[in-house]
Amino acid sequence: MSVSGVPRHWRSLRERYRLLGTYCENCGTRFFPPRKICPKCRRKGRTREVEFSGRGRVFSYTVIHVGSKTFEEYTPYVIGLIELEEGPRVLSQIVDCKPEDVYIGMEVEACFRKLFEQEDGGIISYGFKFRPVDDSWVEYYGKLLAEKEAKAVKS
Ligand SMILES: [Zn+2]
Repeated sequence: MSVSGVPRHWRSLRERYRLLGTYCENCGTRFFPPRKICPKCRRKGRTREVEFSGRGRVFSYTVIHVGSKTFEEYTPYVIGLIELEEGPRVLSQIVDCKPEDVYIGMEVEACFRKLFEQEDGGIISYGFKFRPVDDSWVEYYGKLLAEKEAKAVKS
């Protein structure tokens, strides 16, 4: 999947983003978004900040065909319940693929994207969305390398 459509200035933003949640030292539960108090342990729990890998799987999803005015330009789009590697589930838009390409169990990763733009063209909000984990380039370069080697052997 190509990321060439991503404006250059987003790259620095992407490097800065961190998917931060919390971890309860008492029961080991991880939370995203972060919580100050563990609902299981209450006062017994001690939470500390942890960074998540941003990788997970689609647990369930729905395709939105009619959005509110703010999101109209994005329809149809996919809202998925993503189960992070570390356990917590997070509701997020799934981007960089067609709605019909999304399936339950699909591997996804967090990316930093524009969330919405105000109608008057003023404030642009950025935040997390999820995109398919695309390993096809690994396969592609693997093939290229193999072809190169095969040619080298012949000559
Ligand atoms: Zn706890």
